[in-house]
Amino acid sequence: MPLYDFQCKDCGEAFEVRATIKEKEAGLESVCPKCGSHEVRQMLTAARMLHGSKEFSPPACGPNAGPGCCG
Ligand SMILES: [Zn+2]
Repeated sequence: MPLYDFQCKDCGEAFEVRATIKEKEAGLESVCPKCGSHEVRQMLTAARMLHGSKEFSPPACGPNAGPGCCG
């Protein structure tokens, strides 16, 4: 189930809402968990899946690194 990022316009609290695609299409209504305001806006970030994403990190230089690895 995707997570949607919201931010409260009143207090600036950022929070996540979990909703199905159908719920999202039907119009997701959220309230700020901190101040209870309905003045929230959805962040422009794309919906994130729960598993997240792993950052790619290049192999570190070491004894097994090829020639020219560290200059
Ligand atoms: Zn708030």
